[in-house]
Amino acid sequence: MIKPGAVRAYLLDIEGVLVRDKRYEPVPGAVQWLEGVEAQGLPWRLVSNNTTFTPRELVDSLAAVGFPVTEQHLVGALDAGRRWLVQRQLRRILWLGHPRLADWWRAAGFVLDGEATVEALVLGVNPRLAPDDLDRALAVILDEGVPVVCLHRNGFWLDERSQRRLGPGAWAAALEAASGHSGFTTIGKPAETIYHEALKSLGIPAGECLFISDDPVADLVTAGRLGMRTAFVLSGKYGDHGILSRLAQEEWPDMVCTCLADIDSNEPGPTGDIDSRC
Ligand SMILES: [Mg+2]
Repeated sequence: MIKPGAVRAYLLDIEGVLVRDKRYEPVPGAVQWLEGVEAQGLPWRLVSNNTTFTPRELVDSLAAVGFPVTEQHLVGALDAGRRWLVQRQLRRILWLGHPRLADWWRAAGFVLDGEATVEALVLGVNPRLAPDDLDRALAVILDEGVPVVCLHRNGFWLDERSQRRLGPGAWAAALEAASGHSGFTTIGKPAETIYHEALKSLGIPAGECLFISDDPVADLVTAGRLGMRTAFVLSGKYGDHGILSRLAQEEWPDMVCTCLADIDSNEPGPTGDIDSRC
């Protein structure tokens, strides 16, 4: 078991850390690990790029398989994106994310494309995104000059069958290449916005937080740059640490673990460094 040293709070990715993929089967030992953290009274937050469930559905899905999670634990890209748009009074959107979330946007006071002139284009995970949708998005960018908001820029995601599916990062890259525009706003990981929201929610300095994720490139580089400690778990996207060859050595996570249960949450002592067992 790996002792993370002077950690007072945990920030956790969901898919690949708590659950395997979008089937939401718990990673072995993950429920017990989080129960242990909760029993010790240590603060924690889930920092999620999930854009296929509403915040309520996401929390309910995790609670249904045993995780002691409530909505106050969730810092999600969907809700952070909603806040970003509301702050800028951009209420009329072209939503290119999952169609099942259209009603969630409407309930939050937004008007979707087809009902009014568009003020912003919003990208999220959408397994049904078609070339026609991207053509429409390109027209909106070039003809109307609206801002583009990427709820996250993951190049791919794992579906219910653990199949890799192209994600908003791929669509955003295509639209940037086609439009010649590059000033797209990203809300979720790896952009800093959602990390700052999570730290603010915890009220604990970055240096005393451990960020745990199955994606060292999209999730942990930013966490490390902001001063957090980082743990890469091999229970999700990557079964070994070969992906680290894509990163400069100074961007490597502080520790690599088979799964969450490998991290000792029982001794978050006042001093000490994270073991490096890459
Ligand atoms: Mg993940």
